[in-house]
Amino acid sequence: MPTGKIIKALSGFYYVLDGKETIQCRGRGVFRKRNITPLVGDYVEYEAENDKEGYILSIDERKNDLIRPPVANIDQAVLVFSAAEPAFSTTLLDRFLVLIESKNIEPVICLTKMDLLNGSEELAQYVSDYRNIGYTVIETSSETFNGLEALAQHLNEKTSVFAGQSGVGKSSLLNAIRPDLALKTNEISNSLGRGKHTTRHVELIPAAGGLVADTPGFSSLDFDGIEIEELSSCFPEMAARSSSCKFRGCIHLNEPKCAVKKAVEEGEIPSYRYEHYLQFIEEIKERKPRY
Ligand code: GDP
Ligand code: ZN
Repeated sequence: MPTGKIIKALSGFYYVLDGKETIQCRGRGVFRKRNITPLVGDYVEYEAENDKEGYILSIDERKNDLIRPPVANIDQAVLVFSAAEPAFSTTLLDRFLVLIESKNIEPVICLTKMDLLNGSEELAQYVSDYRNIGYTVIETSSETFNGLEALAQHLNEKTSVFAGQSGVGKSSLLNAIRPDLALKTNEISNSLGRGKHTTRHVELIPAAGGLVADTPGFSSLDFDGIEIEELSSCFPEMAARSSSCKFRGCIHLNEPKCAVKKAVEEGEIPSYRYEHYLQFIEEIKERKPRY
């Protein structure tokens, strides 16, 4: 049976990309019985009725999925942050990074609007800090087109979701990479008037040899579902040191002989990263129990 990837779902049809062809498929009743709905991003097996139409027969196990936008099997999240307008914030970046790490999605940090800054030492220091942690940081400008090739290389052969505050330049980036798309900049999609269970429309669009979700992700930025004990695993530089802490299960707060706190004191872990960790711990502690 042929296989492909769902790139669009609309009005009961699933559009399955197989090589260069897109087949319009219906799901057979099997999914309802198993309480599973095909998601954009799913790898599926389908039966072709003709060149253009077919039926989805089965869905491969997902490596991950997002609720907003509803998309499965994401290889990476491109975290878009502007160098200025709005100002770069490590607090917000660390928040996004934790959310993405907790879903086992690879983050790529993409700085935009680099043309607005004439060499900021502060920003250069942050770039170096995040690279030292092991993150990929790409510096771009949709005005001068600097860095777009590097970004395109990272999109190749991957399914990516862009995420980031409104106004940081996500649509401009996608437009610069895929001018034919002509996405409206600053487009705000609202879900007013839609049923609670209606999934928002999302489409994976071919770009730079990969697929990119046309709807940015992670509209909710709270730490629902993340426990205090797992938070440090979402900070790679802490996770790498926690096996050297004296106590197993050390959460790097007041425990003696904590390798993470030592690394912070010695300047090996940037102090702002540790401060954000503490701030996020407080936030998780204050979380109301969910029933
Ligand atoms: P989005 O909300 O993240 O999709 O952001 P947009 O792509 O709509 O961009 C928001 C605003 O920033 C628009 O006015 C863009 O023209 C501007 N902008 C986007 N990228 C750049 C850039 O690289 N340099 C400059 N100077 N402005 C940019
Ligand atoms: Zn520790």
